Order: sequence, then structure tokens, then C-alpha cells
Amino acid sequence: MTIHTVAVIGSGIMGAGIAEVAASHGHPVLVYDINADAISRAIDGIRTRLESRVTRGKLSAEACEQTLQRLVPVTDIQALARADLVIEAASEQMAVKKALFAQLAEICPAKTLLTSNTSSISITAIAADLSHPERVAGLHFFNPAPVMKLVEVVNGLATSEEVVEQLSALAVKWGKQPVRCQSTPGFIVNRVARPYYAEAWRALEEQVAAPETIDAALREGAGFPMGPLELTDMIGQDVNFAVTCSVFNAFWQERRFLPSLVQQELVLAGRFGKKSGQGVYNWRSDRPAASWLETVSDADSAISVQRRSDGVTEIDGLLLIETQGETAQALANRYGQPVVVCDRQEGDVAVIAVAASNPASANRKAVWHLQQQGKRVLQVADYPGLLIWRTVAMIVNEALDALQKGVASEQDIDTAMRLGVNYPRGPLAWGEQLGWQRLLRLLENLQRHYGEERYRPSSLLRQRALLESSYES
Ligand code: NAD
Repeated sequence: MTIHTVAVIGSGIMGAGIAEVAASHGHPVLVYDINADAISRAIDGIRTRLESRVTRGKLSAEACEQTLQRLVPVTDIQALARADLVIEAASEQMAVKKALFAQLAEICPAKTLLTSNTSSISITAIAADLSHPERVAGLHFFNPAPVMKLVEVVNGLATSEEVVEQLSALAVKWGKQPVRCQSTPGFIVNRVARPYYAEAWRALEEQVAAPETIDAALREGAGFPMGPLELTDMIGQDVNFAVTCSVFNAFWQERRFLPSLVQQELVLAGRFGKKSGQGVYNWRSDRPAASWLETVSDADSAISVQRRSDGVTEIDGLLLIETQGETAQALANRYGQPVVVCDRQEGDVAVIAVAASNPASANRKAVWHLQQQGKRVLQVADYPGLLIWRTVAMIVNEALDALQKGVASEQDIDTAMRLGVNYPRGPLAWGEQLGWQRLLRLLENLQRHYGEERYRPSSLLRQRALLESSYES
């Protein structure tokens, strides 16, 4: 079946973006909303965006005009009878979506593909009770839809393989990268990304470091395009908190998705982030810089530094150890020596924590040593797993859980996280690089430290760790 006419229901942020994508790729687009003003606002917005592309020499005036002419405002839902594909992007409420799909099933012929851009509502539930549920699927675009390459093509229990294939092929024609996934809470991206936010809220709650230091560690130390806390300010604290609550509840209140009280406070205060002027940060004034440690210039150059075969660096009797999920104090007690733990270092950033029992002079030597290696150093409280290792381990763990439960393929999970939230690496490829045994040890240590279900290693992580050790032996 050829998809010619596309209908978009809901002309808000997402609907307008999706209508622009479809019209730019040659489809007549029926633009429908219950609110007629929303339709004109959406079309005006598309015009402004396209004209700015013309001004910047990125689009011809002719193509701009043709795209705009393909947008057909529609105020009567009956007009959607002539669509080959309907993409619903109305408000995120089950009752709204069920009512719309029940109407669509009456209005549209059986061959019309009916899709939803929902972020969190079950496609299986939307399709239930409809005639021909096999033509109902999720088509989950990311914001802003004209820019973001990823589309999650979501199948519910009844969705047919042909429909999924057709929608995936269409997404490719529209210049998008489709990934396939099952209709499970959060699909791929909104599930696997949860620990990125959750671990940052926990670090904030436990007063491990100031927000700007937490953000700098993940952004500058691990290559994420934005720190987790600044990202929640950009997304909107209300929106991000609602997604977290929705995933948490949809997983029967699974503890590892537990929402943060700190974030709830921001939402209750109306501190929604950039859009309201204040969130984690005050966006009306300059954001504070992370507290990089000052250069240690007075260290004795006769300091002895030895890199041991087990990866530990010994600096005048102090042990500098890359974290495996234990605190510096736990290690100092075990070894009877001063200990500084450091986070994963890929670039020029070193995040460290020191044992409270260390002499200050020993800590200064560790900082001196790292600075001699060209590192900029951030010091945080003595926190097991520190910031980068702990966050990445939890993301990898969630990706493995999704993989094991058949949410999507390994390749699609990695693609989704790289393109949907611009992670520097796909989590499963990252896990392979970091080492499954090492990740397992880190999570086991965290679980022991907190005694919490939240850090339980995924069963697939255990299996991969076993396989890795069997290759080594
Ligand atoms: P929005 O609030 O900007 O727009 C929703 C529009 O739907 C409004 O114009 C409203 O008038 C219209 N609407 C409500 N009920 C309707 C009905 N019965 N019939 C027709 N129109 C109706 O919302 P949005 O951010 O564009 O989100 C739309 C959908 O896309 C939601 O399901 C959301 O979960 C999903 N989504 C949002 C994002 C995002 O970043 N905003 C990203 C991916 C997916």
C-alpha cells in the first residue's frame, strides 16, 4: 500500500513538527486539532521555520511554498477518512487517545494505518477493542521532530509485521532512523535513560556535589552532550518528572525507577527549568561554574609514584584507585593506607573522592599527580561508584534488562540511545568496552552498600560477566 495522504491529530509541539516532516517529504498533510487556533499556530510556526531556512540558503523558496501548500487545515475529524496514515499527537491521556482511535476506526477504511506518537501509553491498550488492531502502531518521534533522527516504531500485541515494516520504510524515506520496539513502559529511550537522571538526583540528595559539578562530571568527563541536571531543566522539570512517575508506576513501582523528592519539590514550587526561568539552576543569571580544584604547585617533586600491575597507583604510600563501587574509606580501612578513589577518566577530567581518615598532605599529592597527568580535577564527597562509573553502569544495566526482556534488539537499543538522547556511545557497546565483570562488581558493591533493590545487577549482566570470564580462563 502506498502512503500518500498523512493526517496529524494534535497541532502542538510534536504534531506541528511531524506535519512539517511529512509535508517536506511530499505528502499532503491533514492538520487536525480540537482547537482551531492550535492549527493556525502550528501552520504559522512551520511557515516561520521554513522561511528562516530559505533565508539561510538551506531551502529554496519554491520548495518552501510547495511544502506549505501541502498543509491542509482540518477542523472536522471526518475529513481524516481520506488519510492513508494517521499520526496521533494529541494530549498524553489514555482516555483522549482511546476516544480518538475509536472514532478513527469508524471513520477510516480498514487499510488506513493508525499510529500514535505517545511517549508512555500502551499501544496494545490503544488498539484493544478496535476493529483491525493489526494496523495500530506507535510512531514515536523525538522533539524537535524535524531535527531529531530517531523514530521508535512500536508494536502492540496485535500489530502486524507488515505494518511495522511499512512504517519503518516510511521513516527511512523521511530521513529518519527507525528502531523497532515492543510496547513496554518508556519504550527504549525513556526507559534506558531513566538512570541518567535518577543517579544525578540521588547524588544531589546525598549532597555529593553541587549541581554544576555533577553536570560537569558527566558532560566533560564522560562525553554526554549535557549534564543530567541541566538537561532536566531544558526538558522541563514537570515533563521529566511526569515521565519518571509514569515509568515508575507502569513498572509496578519498581524501586530502580523511584522518582526523586528533590525533583518533586522543584515541580511543586513551579521551578520547571529554563521555560520558567528557574529549575535546578537560575536561568535569569549566569550559571555557576563547577568547582575545579586549584593547581597544586607546592608539592615536593621527590614524590614517589608507582603504577602497580593491578592498576592501582601508589603515591608516597597513598593508593589512587579507580572506583569499583566502594567508598575511599572502605578501601582505606581494608588496606590500612590513605586512599583516593577516582572516576572513569576518558578525557582530561578526573573526579575524585578521598577517605576522611587521609592526611590532607596525602590528598594534595594525589591531586598534584593527576594534574601532572594533564587532568582537571573535581572533588566530590566519598560516594560509592562516584558519578560517571555509577551512572554509566546503571544505564548499561537498564539496557541489558530491556534487551533480555525482548524490548528491542541490541543494535536498536544502542542506536536509540545515540540518536534519541545523543549519548556518546550505545550503552551495550559501552558495556562491552568497560567490561561486564567490572560493571557487575560495581553494581554488587553498590547494592551491598545501600542494601537496595535499585542497584540489583540484571540477570543478563551476570550471564555476560560469566561468559567474559570463561573467555579469559
Ligand atoms: P501539546 O500539549 O503541545 O499538544 C497537544 C495538542 O493536542 C493540543 O494542541 C491540543 O489542543 C490537542 N488535542 C488535545 N485533545 C485533542 C483531541 N481530542 N483531538 C484533537 N486534538 C486534541 O503536546 P505535545 O508535547 O505536542 O505532545 C503530543 C503527544 O506527543 C503526546 O502524546 C506526548 O506524550 C507525545 N510526545 C511529546 C514529546 C515532547 O517532547 N513534547 C516527545 C515525544 C512524544
